[in-house]
Amino acid sequence: MQDVVEKVYEQVVARNRGEEEFHQAVREVLESLDPVIAKHPHYAEDGLLERIVEPERQIMFRVPWVDDAGQVHVNRGFRIEFNSALGPYKGGLRFHPSVNAGIIKFLGFEQIFKNALTGQGIGGGKGGSDFDPHGRSDAEVMRFCQSFMTELSRHIGPDTDVPAGDIGVGGREIGYLFGQYKRLRNSYDAGVLTGKGLAWGGSLVRTEATGYGTVLFAQSMLATRGDSLEGKRIAVSGAGNVAIYAIEKAQQLGARPITFSDSSGYVVDEAGVDLELLKQVKEVERGRVADYVSRRPGARLVTEGRPWDVPVDVALPCATQNELDADSATALLRSGCAVVAEGANMPCTPQAIEAFQAAGILYAPGKASNAGGVATSALEMEQNAGRTRWDFATAEAKLTGIMADIHDSCVAAAETYGRPGDYVLGANAAGFTQVADVMIAHGIV
Ligand code: GLU
Repeated sequence: MQDVVEKVYEQVVARNRGEEEFHQAVREVLESLDPVIAKHPHYAEDGLLERIVEPERQIMFRVPWVDDAGQVHVNRGFRIEFNSALGPYKGGLRFHPSVNAGIIKFLGFEQIFKNALTGQGIGGGKGGSDFDPHGRSDAEVMRFCQSFMTELSRHIGPDTDVPAGDIGVGGREIGYLFGQYKRLRNSYDAGVLTGKGLAWGGSLVRTEATGYGTVLFAQSMLATRGDSLEGKRIAVSGAGNVAIYAIEKAQQLGARPITFSDSSGYVVDEAGVDLELLKQVKEVERGRVADYVSRRPGARLVTEGRPWDVPVDVALPCATQNELDADSATALLRSGCAVVAEGANMPCTPQAIEAFQAAGILYAPGKASNAGGVATSALEMEQNAGRTRWDFATAEAKLTGIMADIHDSCVAAAETYGRPGDYVLGANAAGFTQVADVMIAHGIV
């Protein structure tokens, strides 16, 4: 890294001690900025870099709630309003026991550039709690969401900050959160949250969007090499929203996804994933991946290792951060994998990314390839503002167009800065310059 950039990074590490995921996310962006700043030195002036790595506002709060047995629990809530240069803060809420300030900060930082890439005028933010919804009754989840929103409601609004889902936050949680917000405000501000149910302001395609978008991005990358997903074997990790709809779109495009996973292990189904069964197990029954195996002859559950040990042409990490390390990257490269597109946020470690780039395979960072989710959230906001509803085909066509545009702007930026085919540089440079130009226009704020 250039000296000026290195200094900013060192300050981030010193100021945010122990927040390794945040350091990792900042480092990846700052490293990409060397050629950008060499060409346009003004981006390193007026404390712009120092400002962009510092959240505009960090909110941390107590979330007390009572379980079904009458016992009181205290969780910690977060909302990091990172950057509002391009529009209201926008980004999901994650409910998972691993959540802490560093995790939310890394996610919020990534979100700034991801949201910029969508071109839809949305700033970057993220939030969540260390609450674990697994094994909790609907009533417990509802009481937690009501307590969480009682504090969060002071800080959000359709033109201020618009949360959505992430790991552990889906339609059920958004429903309880919206119900409580509406009650506190005495106002039907549909645009305050996205990922809503279809009967109360939600958008068709929002559920599918992140997974669909990731696969569309992989397809665009393959097209640059005159290839397509047709007939490709695919390893997918995760079994949530992103994984399920990545599998669905991959199947529609003629590929054969053969794996998915959760914390209990990964499933290999050489015949190709039975999507209806997977949806039944995960979406209807909220079960484990083992429940799929017990009903699907030929499928097996592997409890050691990762899906990346299975020989495939394409890998789609759709579970969580740092789930694909250097050893997994080596295994994938050895088996001939030629495409990796991130459906999750920062699922590949820096060493894995280095290995993919050194091998010259197609690698897409999540802030580009998983931007379809937040892009469709912005489409939901657009429909709410216009008091209108688009049909599935209209919403999907818009998502497809946005993903193609993101792909093309990454390609163009990588070429501009002298590293054609480098989607990491392309995504970071294209996202950064959009945010930075507007921050400069707004003055030192
Ligand atoms: N949590 C998703 C993401 O990582 C979606 C955010 C949103 O829809 O606001 O981009």
